[in-house]
Amino acid sequence: MRIVVPGAAGFIGFHLSHRLLDEGHDVVGVDNYTTGSARNIHDLTANPRFTFIEQDIVEPLRLNGPVDMILNMACPASPIDFETKAVDIMRTCSVGVFNLLELARAAGALFLQASTSECYGDPLEHPQRETYRGNVNPIGPRAPYDEGKRFGEALTMTYHRKYGLRTRMVRIFNTYGPRMRRDDGRALPNFICQALKNEPVTVHGDGNQTRSFCYVSDLVEGILRTAHGNCVEPINLGNDEEITIRQAADEVIRIAGSRSTIRLVPRPVDDPEKRRPDLTRAREILGWRPTVARETGFAETIAWFRASQPS
Ligand code: UDP
Repeated sequence: MRIVVPGAAGFIGFHLSHRLLDEGHDVVGVDNYTTGSARNIHDLTANPRFTFIEQDIVEPLRLNGPVDMILNMACPASPIDFETKAVDIMRTCSVGVFNLLELARAAGALFLQASTSECYGDPLEHPQRETYRGNVNPIGPRAPYDEGKRFGEALTMTYHRKYGLRTRMVRIFNTYGPRMRRDDGRALPNFICQALKNEPVTVHGDGNQTRSFCYVSDLVEGILRTAHGNCVEPINLGNDEEITIRQAADEVIRIAGSRSTIRLVPRPVDDPEKRRPDLTRAREILGWRPTVARETGFAETIAWFRASQPS
């Protein structure tokens, strides 16, 4: 197949593209490097079946030749981006998704939208099922991303209803692994970089808030099963092993063999208190479940950060 991956220079876009190339597909990566890395594109380009278009999806994409699928991974996704790239995010999630849907329509391609657990906001239902409509603050600092992604889902579903477009949606929960942005401000890259330097590990608040961390190869498998399946409704993808952030920090310090201590620092506004996917739909419809244990995933990720440390 010929598959377009907007966001190919990013963390998930890279791993997804890499897997598709391994499977023998032609991949057209699209990225404007807002948060993506040139190194990722450089590494993908080693495969002759990969081609790259440097472009913002906010501009209409012109592609010659057939397109079988568009798997849209393009969007800044770290909480620090929600502030610094707020307008970009809202344009990417609206005009950008619109442009890709139009391309899918013109090409007769399947369109898969990477959505997010942030659609649930600071959830009042726990764990979160896909039927839960969320608790999002529409004017809060996370709104550009949360509401942007919710709009992206509405747009995707509208194209399915109105034009019969083949669409898929995945709601991605906290995912980690090699090639996360070192400076992306998220808990695991921060903890790992701090631990490797034996610096204090910055835990927000008292660290009792929870997350459920999924290794990236599990996520990619779930995305591909969704693309090849026939479910038009959104599907939660993540790991349902929930831990406190304090525990995540302790585990990183232990696995890294670090001498770091924990430093408690103020917590951001609207930081969700707990998050864990209900994976029933993914299990029943896709036969999918995460398989990589946190111990293994953390070790792989720490090893990658260690090997690629800036000198
Ligand atoms: N967090 C933390 N220290 C950091 C970065 C993040 O304690 O240096 C917390 C953050 O407040 C949140 C959790 O870790 O409660 C996960 O944050 P992350 O930015 O990884 O992703 P989120 O789940 O909020 O999108």
